[in-house]
Amino acid sequence: MTRPAVLGGPCRFPAGLAFVRPSLPPLSEVTRRLGPSYAEGQVTDGPLVRELEAAAAERLSVDHVVAVASCTTGLMLVWKVLQPNGPVVLPGFTFAASAHALDWNHVGLRFAECDPHSFQIDSADAIAKLSGAAGVLATHVFGAPCDATALQAAADQAGVPLVYDAAHAFGARLQGRPVGGLGTAEVFSLTPTKPLVAGEGGLVATRDAELARQIRVGRNYGNPGDYDSQFSGLNGRMSEFHAAVALASLERFDEDLASRRGLAERYCNAVVGITGLQPQAVPAGDTSTWKDFTVRVDEAEYGLNAGQASDALRADGIDTRRYFWPPVHLHRAYRQRFPTRLPITEAAAGSVISLPVWPAMELSTVDTVIEVLGDLHDHAEEIRERVA
Ligand SMILES: *Cc1c(COP(=O)(O)O)cnc(C)c1O
Repeated sequence: MTRPAVLGGPCRFPAGLAFVRPSLPPLSEVTRRLGPSYAEGQVTDGPLVRELEAAAAERLSVDHVVAVASCTTGLMLVWKVLQPNGPVVLPGFTFAASAHALDWNHVGLRFAECDPHSFQIDSADAIAKLSGAAGVLATHVFGAPCDATALQAAADQAGVPLVYDAAHAFGARLQGRPVGGLGTAEVFSLTPTKPLVAGEGGLVATRDAELARQIRVGRNYGNPGDYDSQFSGLNGRMSEFHAAVALASLERFDEDLASRRGLAERYCNAVVGITGLQPQAVPAGDTSTWKDFTVRVDEAEYGLNAGQASDALRADGIDTRRYFWPPVHLHRAYRQRFPTRLPITEAAAGSVISLPVWPAMELSTVDTVIEVLGDLHDHAEEIRERVA
């Protein structure tokens, strides 16, 4: 047993352990790919973007992929095209951009609960809130697929679109089937904290050819080609630079996913040995990308709450995130306009910590993080007195 740094013990990561480090391909690979487009003077929405769309469609087993400037842009455009004529049901336990994309379209928000173990949208609560609603937006939280089967049945019965915020989920599988072809559309993010990295970027995946066509128009100001705007679109294009990074990243993507899986397994096996810590539940047969490895902290059993634990980890050099605290329904932007109490979500959001996980991280680093978490538990009373 070692004294945690927060109590004056030796700092376990004096140089700091980053929460995330993007897996980037060699720069020479990026410039090699970019060369031809650059020489042609084609620096945005060109052949590399087309190549990325085709490669992603194949990998996701979906008919259409439209590359966009970001996942937020993609979600905004999807709802712009779908034009729901009523509120949309979405989880409170998600990233702000899920809600923002609806709000930018003046679509009302109807927040639903999450499951306390998987943190995924609670499909029973979502279904209960579907009456009078005009759509569902569900997030694949931390890279694990959400309860898509139940949601799809309910959306079909209600006759409303079901869109997935798949920002975390490029490479995830639902009972063996790649995430990407589910629902009306799924939207992925390619920012540096996500499994597949372009720098900035998003991918809209859909089986609906007409929706894909409209998203292509939408990402180009709503201009179908004749400068007679069909609707108020955006500049939502992806640049050739970003497509080059994503294409080069795809080459190593399976290895990156395997690394994340190995780290997550190591964490899972060890975390269960620490009283009061519970890893995110992922249903058997589903494959997570492990974009985040997230534990729920039971304050009574662990001895510290999530905030205290995260502060104490920081003293040992370990960077963590409290995703998603505060939950989005309590953000200033929404709490008065869409007042909702979600006790299960609020308790979960207040109790979770996401720990460092990135492809180049060593397995032995997981062991050290786990040691620190164990030491914090063993010294919990002293730590509580100190921070009180
Ligand atoms: C990162 C993230 C987004 C936003 O992605 P961008 O590509 O930055 O727009 C949306 N939803 C979730 C759940 C995210 O984590």
